[in-house]
Amino acid sequence: MTLGFCSFSSGSSGNCYMVRSNTTALLVDAGISGKKIWEGLERTQTPREMVTALLITHEHSDHTKSVGTVSKKQKDLCVYASEGTWDKITAPVAEHQRRCFQAGDVFEIGDIQVKTFRVSHDAADPVGYSFYSGDRQISIVTDTGYVREETMEEMTGADILVLEANHDVDMLRIGKYPWFLKQRVLSDEGHLSNEAAGNALVDLISRREKERCVLLAHLSRENNFPEMAYQTVKNILEEANYYIGKHVFLDTLLRDTVSSLYEI
Ligand SMILES: [Zn+2]
Ligand SMILES: [Zn+2]
Repeated sequence: MTLGFCSFSSGSSGNCYMVRSNTTALLVDAGISGKKIWEGLERTQTPREMVTALLITHEHSDHTKSVGTVSKKQKDLCVYASEGTWDKITAPVAEHQRRCFQAGDVFEIGDIQVKTFRVSHDAADPVGYSFYSGDRQISIVTDTGYVREETMEEMTGADILVLEANHDVDMLRIGKYPWFLKQRVLSDEGHLSNEAAGNALVDLISRREKERCVLLAHLSRENNFPEMAYQTVKNILEEANYYIGKHVFLDTLLRDTVSSLYEI
């Protein structure tokens, strides 16, 4: 039995991930066009009928743009979101396809166990997800201004960790975003910077050393570059005597690009 992860797009302009076991495939967020989602499924040779659920992290449009389209096209697919998030989703989703949970709930979809946990973001009721199959774990933590202790504990066991590295703080400060938006991104309910992602990883490795694949995600188009995110995290790890290839495998997820299929 394997558990796999693929990003169909990651970044402030649109997010959609796929998690799959041998028999079940799940989508996390639908912030890109339906067409791009079907393309991603094709590229990873995932039959559409294998996709039984779409899980939403929060209501922002870079995560929900195609919820209506996807649920309409696949009438047997269930859409999962937290109670507060459902209140904010305006896309029409048929009653029989709606599944509502509270942050902290654990449930099964096919042979994948799903655990939900709160993150810190300026949305109604935002969550991150962990997926389990046997002793394997994939965790997705993006759109969070800082890493809560409970999130850190949740991330520690992940074999594949999708972690936000949204911006370079200096680029954001001198960049063209209006002041209020800069404040929003930098706040505790904003987004995780490259530096904060690096520090979280050092903390993670010091708590528990294990084989981990970390995928830097949700990069800002305006205030980051993939090379910069990677290099900043690498530098912070090396300052703590942790090395890529030895203590962690590190990669960066790109916007509008179907990533490799990472399997454990
Ligand atoms: Zn987002
Ligand atoms: Zn957001």
